[in-house]
Amino acid sequence: MEAIVKLKPLTPIWTGDAGRKCRMIRETGIIGSLRWWYEALIRGLGGEACDPTKSKCNGQSRCGVCELFGCTGWARRFKLDVREVKKDFAPFFIVKPNSSKRASFLGYYDKSGQSWEKNGGLLGEYELRITAKDEAILNTIKFLLKLSCDWGIGSGTQRGFGISLIDNDLQLQKPDIRIEQLNNPSSNLPRMDQFFFYKIPIVNIEALDLIIKEICEGLYITKKSPLSSFDFARYNYLPTAPWVRRAIRELFRDNDVLRHYLMGFISDGNTKPIHLSCWRHLIEKKDKEKNKTYYVCPKCRKKRVHDENMLKKTGSKIFVSHIYNKNAFKGNVEPEWEMKVWGWIPDLPSGIGENRQRVKNKLQENLKEEDFWKSCFGIEENPVDINGIEEVWDVDIEKLLTNGGEVL
Ligand SMILES: [Zn+2]
Ligand SMILES: [Zn+2]
Repeated sequence: MEAIVKLKPLTPIWTGDAGRKCRMIRETGIIGSLRWWYEALIRGLGGEACDPTKSKCNGQSRCGVCELFGCTGWARRFKLDVREVKKDFAPFFIVKPNSSKRASFLGYYDKSGQSWEKNGGLLGEYELRITAKDEAILNTIKFLLKLSCDWGIGSGTQRGFGISLIDNDLQLQKPDIRIEQLNNPSSNLPRMDQFFFYKIPIVNIEALDLIIKEICEGLYITKKSPLSSFDFARYNYLPTAPWVRRAIRELFRDNDVLRHYLMGFISDGNTKPIHLSCWRHLIEKKDKEKNKTYYVCPKCRKKRVHDENMLKKTGSKIFVSHIYNKNAFKGNVEPEWEMKVWGWIPDLPSGIGENRQRVKNKLQENLKEEDFWKSCFGIEENPVDINGIEEVWDVDIEKLLTNGGEVL
């Protein structure tokens, strides 16, 4: 059995290859997104989904996610092919929001600056063909595609990529998701019952012009070549996600560990790993005799903290889309601009000095605050229709399954 899904990116899709470029939509990138959502759904329903980085699932025994997506000794239960109907590329930008030093690289960075107009991911039109043995599997995959496309498919969804339109009727039924083993409740992996979602309409067109002016001042094609102006008229999106991410990061300015935990980090020269029992950034020391570095905890004073007791990196738990025209593929319809902010806030470890409820309150208050959006883009007009914002926290998964995957 098979199903066709017509996919049209509203913001660029990124499925990077081994050379860190993106010249086509790779099936593995799409399947990775579907798996991520399936894991979150299963965990949210109280079921077990293994941590793919240390999975023990195999041909004899496996979790519900590996049952569908496969693991060592067990084949994936469906096949997915991508056909390019109309291929188009998005431009690459280095983005420095509000002239900050922290730069975001939206795509593949080519130092020569030559092919930047094609290095920012994929636009256009694509057809996904899903093949499976039975209707139930086909339906589940369509359901996961719907969630992924609505909230970001492929990688880079924390900074604008992957919002896509599905331009045909999927005829979704309620997915048949069976929970066999129970979840380990201490698991700190994404689970849908802890997710939140925002749709944020941009209605003030004058403010939108101010945003375009403002972001153009933060666009570069190489580290030394500012763009200063760019004609966005032929595109259906504006690369605004780094501005919004920056504004959200700022909300957690007074707690480095919490900010890094929520927004993601990789330990490097500036940011050191976190001691997991104390939730403090470690201090790096040099053992001169052995010419090795080691880590000391400033809180518990433990010397030489072991690797397994530290968090060296974590992905962002908060995702932000670019601003896009949701009517882009609707023929002669006036543009309607919106952006999405979503993510998951786990129960926070007590040592982090903040709890989930207070993080939730902070996000809720600020995302509905005019001043937040003005200072986000450094403009004097508020671009957002505050009363038109739609939000949901702590998703009711049963409801989501029965209403065709409409989160909002
Ligand atoms: Zn598994
Ligand atoms: Zn410590």
